[in-house]
Amino acid sequence: MNRKILTILSDAKTLRKKSEPFPSVDEWGDDEKNCIKDLQDTHNVSQGLGLAAPQIGIFKRAVVINPRVIGVDGDDPVVMVNPTLETSGDLKTDVEACFSIPGGVMGKVERPQKCKVTYIDQAGASKFLEAEGYAAVCLQHEIDHLDGILYVDRMGPLSRKMLLKKVQKIERFRSKGERLAAEMFASDHAEISGSGPSRKKTTYSKKRKPKKRKPKIRKSKKR
Ligand code: ZN
Repeated sequence: MNRKILTILSDAKTLRKKSEPFPSVDEWGDDEKNCIKDLQDTHNVSQGLGLAAPQIGIFKRAVVINPRVIGVDGDDPVVMVNPTLETSGDLKTDVEACFSIPGGVMGKVERPQKCKVTYIDQAGASKFLEAEGYAAVCLQHEIDHLDGILYVDRMGPLSRKMLLKKVQKIERFRSKGERLAAEMFASDHAEISGSGPSRKKTTYSKKRKPKKRKPKIRKSKKR
């Protein structure tokens, strides 16, 4: 099931909650299977680089990663249950975006450029992955969500304040635009269905008859 993605504007506190680990594979029930299914479905609709269970309101330790990000073949998002992360390498600043920070904004975050992840896949098998560069950044971003950490929490206080102000401003404009569009639609619809205010009848003038032109008579040249 495609679920609504929680955002920092309405669910800032909820997104900061720490998620609970999945039980061992033989204890997976409907809750665990539905969590994986909803994460995959929501990711397939949102078409991002990754998504974490708490972003769709499920506080269990599971994320999905776009297979292209980590160089895996196929279209199905890679499911990582109970992922554990070990970072290494130089720190580098890169831009990040997140469905939970709406408005299409991006922020600069400094992160280690290498990581190792161990996790359980959707079939219950233990897996291990090493990543570098932007793949390592994406994995860290998604796994951070499981500990209630958003990328803005890793920015400096001033940059974070400015970015969140920008998000609020964009969302104010967006909701104002949506409200205006809804009002215009309602008013147009009322007029079409005849329930709206009556329009003045417009009278059109009769078409002018084309003027009759006198046939041109060629004057013969005098010789
Ligand atoms: Zn995110």
